[in-house]
Amino acid sequence: MKEKKKTRIAWNKGLTKETDERVRLNGEKTQATRLFRADICKEGAKKAWITRRNRNKTTAWNKGLSKETDIRVKMSGETRSRYLKEKFDSGKLVVWNKGKTKETDERVKRCGNNISLAAKGNKKYKWSAKKRNNFILKMTGHDTPDIVIQKMKNAWTVEKRLKSRMKRLTQIFPFKDTKIEIKMQDELSSRGYGYYKHYPVMGQPDIAFPDQKVAVFCDGCYWHSCLEHYNRSNCEQKEKDNIVNKTLNNSGWLVLRYWEHEINANVEAVVDEIEDVVFKRMIS
Ligand SMILES: [Zn+2]
Repeated sequence: MKEKKKTRIAWNKGLTKETDERVRLNGEKTQATRLFRADICKEGAKKAWITRRNRNKTTAWNKGLSKETDIRVKMSGETRSRYLKEKFDSGKLVVWNKGKTKETDERVKRCGNNISLAAKGNKKYKWSAKKRNNFILKMTGHDTPDIVIQKMKNAWTVEKRLKSRMKRLTQIFPFKDTKIEIKMQDELSSRGYGYYKHYPVMGQPDIAFPDQKVAVFCDGCYWHSCLEHYNRSNCEQKEKDNIVNKTLNNSGWLVLRYWEHEINANVEAVVDEIEDVVFKRMIS
């Protein structure tokens, strides 16, 4: 027989903001959090919309221009042909069928046949996975011309880098809060505390008190490799966590990390500790 699940009674059951101070405070904080998040979302949506609009507007830079009329078109064409010529001359670029005919070479004959079959719409003509891989291998590995690398570097401006950083910070992943996160959130809410979930700073703390600069992380035993349950010698996540800790510390945050097993064992004690820390920073 399955044991019947205990039904939990919500701490604010039957209470209203008019009668209970905690409900009122909690409501205010929730509203503030919601507005804050909505602002971020709105900003993101607006930016995305502008980017989309601009993308539709833009046309190829060389549209309607010819080699004769535009110096830039001429230059880029020349750069490309010079690059290819250099490759040919240095012997790096060799065409496999150079000087071969279908009369003298079996491979040329087979390829010619296949191409004509494919052109006729023959469905039997299909590349095997091996062949496709070989083709991809053959096509990759050519050096990117310096001029292209320079262009890419120029395009990746400080502004763009910051933008992309902000985008990553406000993007929440995974989308669903984990069980331990919910446990902590419930306990904090039941005490009437307002907090931020996935605050957009480095590492996206699961729970954050930005005014007091306290960041709380709920680390899963498996993913973060806890000493008691999944102690692994080289855990990539641990290195990432250390970087997050350092970066947040350097910008004045206090980082608290709790293990999944700690939270599961005694969530009240964990939240007591957080409460202490936040309170101390509030009055100092
Ligand atoms: Zn553990």
